[in-house]
Amino acid sequence: MALPAEPADSLAFTAALDLISQVEPRVAEAVRQELQDQRESLKLIASENYASPAVLAAMGNWLSDKYAEGTIGRRFYAGCRNVDTVEQIAADHATALFGAAHAYVQPHSGIDANLVAFWAVLAQRVEAPALARAQARHVNDLSDSDWEDLRRDLGNQRMLGMSLDAGGHLTHGFRPNISGKMFHQASYGTDPATGLLDYDQVRAQAREFRPLILIAGYSAYPRKINFRVMREIADEVGATLMVDMAHFAGLVAGKVFTGDYDPIPHAHIVTTTTHKTLRGPRGGMVLCQSELAEQVDRGCPMVLGGPLPHVMAAKAVALAEARTPDFARYAQAVVANAQALAEGLRRRNVTLVTGGTDNHLVLLDVSPFGLTGRQAEAALLDAGVVTNRNAIPRDPAGAWYTSGIRLGTPALTTRGLNQADMDRIAHLIHTVLAGTQPATTPDGKPSPAKYTLDAKVRDQVSEEAADLMAGYPLYPAIRIS
Ligand SMILES: *Cc1c(COP(=O)(O)O)cnc(C)c1O
Repeated sequence: MALPAEPADSLAFTAALDLISQVEPRVAEAVRQELQDQRESLKLIASENYASPAVLAAMGNWLSDKYAEGTIGRRFYAGCRNVDTVEQIAADHATALFGAAHAYVQPHSGIDANLVAFWAVLAQRVEAPALARAQARHVNDLSDSDWEDLRRDLGNQRMLGMSLDAGGHLTHGFRPNISGKMFHQASYGTDPATGLLDYDQVRAQAREFRPLILIAGYSAYPRKINFRVMREIADEVGATLMVDMAHFAGLVAGKVFTGDYDPIPHAHIVTTTTHKTLRGPRGGMVLCQSELAEQVDRGCPMVLGGPLPHVMAAKAVALAEARTPDFARYAQAVVANAQALAEGLRRRNVTLVTGGTDNHLVLLDVSPFGLTGRQAEAALLDAGVVTNRNAIPRDPAGAWYTSGIRLGTPALTTRGLNQADMDRIAHLIHTVLAGTQPATTPDGKPSPAKYTLDAKVRDQVSEEAADLMAGYPLYPAIRIS
């Protein structure tokens, strides 16, 4: 399964590196080294992928030099016709691909997309009624005391989202993130017995807490979510349903998640990154129903400055790719691969949170091996397998060391690996985990960070991992070594 738009030879990238080299050779060297590292590594990081050469090329040019604050056709700067063109193409592809009424493609990242969405909802549900009450058209027309009341109201709203250890995201109202400082937050977890989202529990909490925003979406929950039910809950308590599909947008685009599991027809507003399963440039996007479009388009100046026109161009290219049958096949294969990986691990008696997966990610509980996530992550990396540690529900080792390892198949699927390869990878992961012992601290207690990995296991797994990746060359058309 080759990336789309791979020419026989991408000389442009060789030329670009030469150019960089003339100014700052160390940067050229780091870029070259990154390609080599990516080519060699067995990458199971669930949030990463490989964008196509066409997407990469769309980002590396003079569109970057343009200021284009405002929206398509209504800019605060002159000379924006080409930015209008690429932004319109990206928005058109996004609405057609997802069946959304409106798309806003300016956010620079997932967190920016979420901030745009939060403030669009606050503007619609808190600011607009306050303006109407004061018979003012603009916030600048409010009296100082009305403005102070509005500011207090904006900062005193409630949000209900998935807890971090159940797989939720920091931007869903958690204190270290600005969302937790803006909103009074409560979170729903998962059923302790099954690890699955318990909709009755979410409903009971929503009735009690009465959030302004009910947020659904995750970074580490290996199952699909029924958005029809989430919308019913939101409607019952008068909440706006926001879905953050940052992780699984590619599965929605590729029509793996349809009907009740497709957030677009059910949510009032949907945010996403464009670089995870969607396989585009690093960036964000907001999709919404018509009622929220005007507020969403005020992302700049609300929380954004000038958009990144070169990244919007790359989003347009990536979204065009995502509308092809090839992309749908990739999305199906991502899930089939994740399920094969989960099955391979389960057969080797590795404990999986929720027992399996419906999406692109698998969450392992490594505590039965006597390891923390931190030890497992480091030992796997020593053996050439790139993953990340992640908290599991009610994690006994806490959010830093954790007891989990999160695996994802988007990047390897893009490279072309298949279900048989996933079984080999399950074998490699199991071999490393079984070959790793926690070290003890000087006072004889088990260390949460130190470990010893059997050197023979390390070498043998590294070799097999490198072998596997050599069979699926990354960016073969890019001749840089
Ligand atoms: C990755 C992620 C984000 C943040 O995306 P960035 O582009 O890193 O800012 C937000 N929400 C969820 C659910 C994510 O998984």
